[in-house]
Amino acid sequence: MAEELNPFKIAQAQFDEAAEKLGLEPAMREILRWPRREYKFTIPVKMDDGSTKVFHGYRVQYNDARGPNKGGIRWHPDETMDTVRALAAWMTWKCSVVDIPLGGGKGGVTCNPKELSNGEKERLARGWMRVAARELGEHRDSPAPDVYTTPQIIAWMIDEYEVIVGRNHPAVITGKPIELGGSQGRGDATARGGIFTVREACKKFNIDPAKATYAVQGFGNAGQFAATLHKEVLGGGILVAVSDSRGGIYCEKGMDPQDIVKWKLENRTVITYPKADKKISNEELLELPVDVLYPAALENVITQKNAANIKCKISCELANGPTTPEADLILHKNGVHVIPDFLANAGGVTVSYFEQVQGTYNYYWTLEDVRKQLDEKMTSAYHAVYDMHKEKNVHMRVAAYLVAVKRVADAVKLRGWV
Ligand code: GLU
Repeated sequence: MAEELNPFKIAQAQFDEAAEKLGLEPAMREILRWPRREYKFTIPVKMDDGSTKVFHGYRVQYNDARGPNKGGIRWHPDETMDTVRALAAWMTWKCSVVDIPLGGGKGGVTCNPKELSNGEKERLARGWMRVAARELGEHRDSPAPDVYTTPQIIAWMIDEYEVIVGRNHPAVITGKPIELGGSQGRGDATARGGIFTVREACKKFNIDPAKATYAVQGFGNAGQFAATLHKEVLGGGILVAVSDSRGGIYCEKGMDPQDIVKWKLENRTVITYPKADKKISNEELLELPVDVLYPAALENVITQKNAANIKCKISCELANGPTTPEADLILHKNGVHVIPDFLANAGGVTVSYFEQVQGTYNYYWTLEDVRKQLDEKMTSAYHAVYDMHKEKNVHMRVAAYLVAVKRVADAVKLRGWV
């Protein structure tokens, strides 16, 4: 049978397995396997050539039993209601696994940002906010950046929101530039949080991260910072490969992460980087025998087709949904330690939560404070999941679901919804 690749069907299947193991009653399963609310918008945008183009946008509020909905907005050509639903479900489990008082949401626009001018992006950002604003608010639902939505896009959105409500209102959206009430440390928080979990995992497996080889698949925000922070935070490491949507590069003796990031920013791709041994494909990168692999791009890159060839010791999933359920079983059988997405990449939303707290009382923390608090959250979440993985003898993703779903189900129960 062909493998299921619809992200929302995958998210539901993952949830169903956890619900079964937790023995949740039927009504609890039903409420937790669907979003509570979903919105579909049309967004007319005046294009630079004078025409009007209508974009399709989404916002899904998956579950707010533990706190207001929270989650990013993704701009991508393949965005659909089902990808947004899946990402909103994963946000719910993500906020729960790191134990922050927020629920899960996600938004998106089907578009190709690489084909939009800056002016068109600004009008699209403001247009999305105009249709979505009435459903948002820090006590209701609060967006943030995701794939292809930059701090500048977030800046236009907060400005539009504040024009609509007629006052300053920083906590409604996170990932803002520092000048507009953003938090210190939000920029690299997703990768930094993942690096903290890798540090803890390395202790469990007696791997010295300073000597470990590593490879990064995907070179957006999370991938670029994973490349540099592995070295900075873990005291070394050998970066043997990186890739972006155009392909990858490999160098056996290791490459300088800062230098590749600089190259990427100046040349828009890593594949022309001159100091590598050779070019490789994204698929080849995933199959390298490295100590730590960072899948940091999009969904469904590790499937039943290539899972048996994955040779890393630790896979730290900075992307959302990179591994299918069939692949999970194969990786587990082959002894690959997966730090699952909604645990590994929870650093972003954790610092988003800190940003909301700071914005609400209008007092801002130092970078040192943010990083320390992030470390505490990520470290205790990793150990909660690892302990569950050992105690119940289940793979790490199931363990993460058991920890996260139980907390949301307890909140649903206490509210008397079920
Ligand atoms: N989009 C990010 C994620 O998938 C961050 C969400 C947020 O900060 O609210 O976790």
